[in-house]
Amino acid sequence: MSLDGAYDPANIFAKILRGEAPCVKVFEDEHVFAFMDVFPQSRGHTLVIPKQSTARNLLEEDPKVLAHLMTGVQRIARAVRSALAPDGLVITQYNGAPAGQTVFHLHVHIIPRWSDQPLGRHASGTMADMDELKALAEQISAMIS
Ligand code: 5GP
Repeated sequence: MSLDGAYDPANIFAKILRGEAPCVKVFEDEHVFAFMDVFPQSRGHTLVIPKQSTARNLLEEDPKVLAHLMTGVQRIARAVRSALAPDGLVITQYNGAPAGQTVFHLHVHIIPRWSDQPLGRHASGTMADMDELKALAEQISAMIS
C-alpha cells in the first residue's frame, strides 16, 4: 500500500484496539495504546499507537492526535530506558509500503539498542516467546510515570 489509499478497519492494530486480536499490553490511556512487538527487532521493542485514529500514516494524522501520540511515545521510551537500561533507543515510524510499512494504522516503534547487539530485521523473523514478552511488558509498565 502506497501513501494513497483508504484506512482498513480490519488491520491488525485496529483489531487489537477493539480487543478482537490478542496483544501483550504495556500501557493505555485516553489517547494512546502501547504493546510489545511480536517480531521484535530487539529485546523490549514496543509499539505505540493512537487510539482515536483512522490515519494509516503520519501524514494523515490530525496534529492534535499526533501531539498526544508523541507525548505517549516519550513517556513509554523513558520507561523502556528505566526498565531495560539500553545504550540507545531507536524511535522510528514508516510511511507507505515502499518505505517499509507493513501495518497501516499509524504507529511508532521504540527499539532499545545495546552496543554489542545487532539490530534484528524489521517485521520478520521468529515470533517472540509470549512469556518473555509478558515479563518485559511488566518491567516496562512498572516504570511508567
Ligand atoms: P511497520 O512495518 O508497519 O512499521 O510495523 C509493524 C510492526 O508490527 C512490525 O514491527 C511487526 O513486527 C509488528 N506486528 C505485525 N503483526 C503484529 C501482531 O499481530 N501483533 C504485534 N504485537 N505486532 C505485530
